[in-house]
Amino acid sequence: MPISFAGQVAVVTGAGNGLGRAYALELARRGAKVVVNDLGASRDGTGHSDAALAVVEEIRAAGGEAMADGGDVSDFAQMEAMAARAVEAWGGIHVLINNAGILRDRTFAKMDPADFELVLRVHLLGSAFATKAVWETMRAQNYGRVLMTTSSTGLGGNFGQANYGAAKAGVLGLARTLRLEGARHDIRVNCIAPTAGTRMTADIFPDEAYKAFEPEGVVPAALFLVSKDAPTDAIVAAGGGVFQSAFITMNKGV
Ligand code: ADP
Repeated sequence: MPISFAGQVAVVTGAGNGLGRAYALELARRGAKVVVNDLGASRDGTGHSDAALAVVEEIRAAGGEAMADGGDVSDFAQMEAMAARAVEAWGGIHVLINNAGILRDRTFAKMDPADFELVLRVHLLGSAFATKAVWETMRAQNYGRVLMTTSSTGLGGNFGQANYGAAKAGVLGLARTLRLEGARHDIRVNCIAPTAGTRMTADIFPDEAYKAFEPEGVVPAALFLVSKDAPTDAIVAAGGGVFQSAFITMNKGV
């Protein structure tokens, strides 16, 4: 039986582009009402980013339900406001996919401390703040599925990514404690490590073979990890291709 999200509310951060957009579209196609979060330029005066609004339109055109959110994941008050809007409109939040992210690659010797801080803020604090914002709702309803995005860089390191690697190792530690604390409320917390085929890795891989954006390598694994039958405390590497390795970022000359 295909995985269904009928009757569920899902929040996807960084969902205006790439993998986040693919998650949002697929969750909606399977019946979820989706909060499409993305930080970015907003031309319509609502404060919701153009990219998020475009994804919301795509979902609505396909008969689904969605709302845009322009909140910055690294700002807890903005994440609280996002969660409050979702609960007010739809009565709960069942799924959170922490996908928002940025890269500021540089060898450590050349890395601006501000870029170290920014990457930690968006990936690590952003994942903590978005999760904290939905946590009480998930606890109260005794159900929650949270997916964190980690990376091979967080596990094994990568040239030019000290900031990102530190953040992604932190995300893993965050997930492992949250799944313990969430267990008695049936909140399951898992990690996905997209390997290739994401917009972010397309920036990293110099080889044309890895430039193609192929979310279908990652999306089914992610959906399983936020489904009713999800495991907890899993780290799934998905996306095919190869793991990042030192020569790749070295080739970029960062
Ligand atoms: P991937 O395909 O790996 O998801 P993207 O770069 O397409 O990579 O996705 C990351 C998304 O996260 C982008 O759409 C970006 O605008 C968004 N994003 C970056 N920083 C933040 C932030 N602080 N809050 C919310 N969204 C963010």
